[in-house]
Amino acid sequence: MFHFTDEQKMIQEMVGRLGRDEIGPLAEKADISGYSSPEVVRLLADNGLLKMSLPTEYGGIGANHTTIALVVEELAKVDASTAMIVFVNQTLPQILGDWGNKEQKARFFGRMSSGDKINAFSLTEPNFGSESASIQTRAVREGEHYVVNGTKIFVSNGDIADFVTVVVRTGEGERHRGLSALIVEKGTNGFSVGKHENKMGLRGTNLAELIFEDAMVPKENMVGEPGKGWDILMTTAADFRAYGPGAMGVGLAQGALDYAVKYAKQRVQFGVPIADHQAIRFMLADMCIKIEAARSLLYRTTMMTDSGSSEWNMQSRLTSGIKCFASDVAMGVTIDAVQILGGYGVMKDHPVERMMRDAKMIQIFDGSNQIQRVIVARTLLT
Ligand SMILES: Cc1cc2nc3c(=O)[nH]c(=O)nc-3n(C[C@H](O)[C@H](O)[C@H](O)COP(=O)(O)OP(=O)(O)OC[C@H]3O[C@@H](n4cnc5c(N)ncnc54)[C@H](O)[C@@H]3O)c2cc1C
Repeated sequence: MFHFTDEQKMIQEMVGRLGRDEIGPLAEKADISGYSSPEVVRLLADNGLLKMSLPTEYGGIGANHTTIALVVEELAKVDASTAMIVFVNQTLPQILGDWGNKEQKARFFGRMSSGDKINAFSLTEPNFGSESASIQTRAVREGEHYVVNGTKIFVSNGDIADFVTVVVRTGEGERHRGLSALIVEKGTNGFSVGKHENKMGLRGTNLAELIFEDAMVPKENMVGEPGKGWDILMTTAADFRAYGPGAMGVGLAQGALDYAVKYAKQRVQFGVPIADHQAIRFMLADMCIKIEAARSLLYRTTMMTDSGSSEWNMQSRLTSGIKCFASDVAMGVTIDAVQILGGYGVMKDHPVERMMRDAKMIQIFDGSNQIQRVIVARTLLT
């Protein structure tokens, strides 16, 4: 049994209530529009959820991975898009916390203390997705600046972000050698937002193209030493997979199961609620078992990270494992939830239709599930 602190339980309950009462009812509208809801973003800011991983000395909550996962799980039960906005927002404070210098922490954390700043993380390019080590966006040092040129795509929160952590190529070394991380601020000369993606799921989270044309980024915005980009990706960024897509998958699946259970108890066919038909019961039971297994793996993983474990191989196995497993569970469970609702399940009057589309996205972003399996296998074989 996992032990959550009283504070964690309190945050979980508060966010559960916020999700049910205020965020859930806004989810459908954002899904139809294909844009993040400003109302949702304001609710998240007002409740301190955009600055969860910001250290307390800068006015943040100083939440660890387990607490963030609890929050993301609760939000995903009603709206995975909102959970995604929250998860992505934690990335920059985490990266700066691990890799930033004193001056950067004071400068960026100070500005995040207002609680309404939006962050994004940008790695993917048109020609390099899974093969992230080969990205081509280049940053060249010229005096007091890095001059950045290239195009990034599929950036969550990208067009509403105040700060974007951009992985760029600074060195001449091949593939992962020569990558660095730069913080690019909204309004930077030469930096603009391109296409807004019209996607199948997670439609309440913006996904944008970012364009860099001789963008002038102050040299002080380099996180860690030049050339440390790959190390940042392999450590801090790899850990995002648990409290991000891992927790999203668990919450989304739980939300779909809860809805299916309620429906199965009410829908009568052949004179009895469909929940009385064994075929439906067994589906519900299997959905529940998979979710409990995913939840156990999720909190085992976040608690391992929070304990400061240095078992790198196991850490890598678990963060990739939970991303892969929870999103596969979410996909299977949401498909079953739609099946349990029958014809009504594919109508937009019920949220399971949206949940099924959202689940598909989680299998792809933050490294596809094939790539996660490649990583898990590597931990076994090397
Ligand atoms: C909703 C959403 C949000 C996203 N948010 C962000 C974000 O905030 N920041 C960001 O940088 N990116 C983001 N992405 C991009 C995402 O991380 C990539 O889409 C993902 O890594 C896959 O890259 P790709 O789409 O280029 O697919 P490709 O790399 O072209 O892969 C295509 C297919 O081939 C498979 N494949 C590729 N290589 C291998 C291999 N070696 N072994 C087995 N199978 C392989 C893949 O699994 C996939 O099925 C987001 C994507 C989505 C859909």
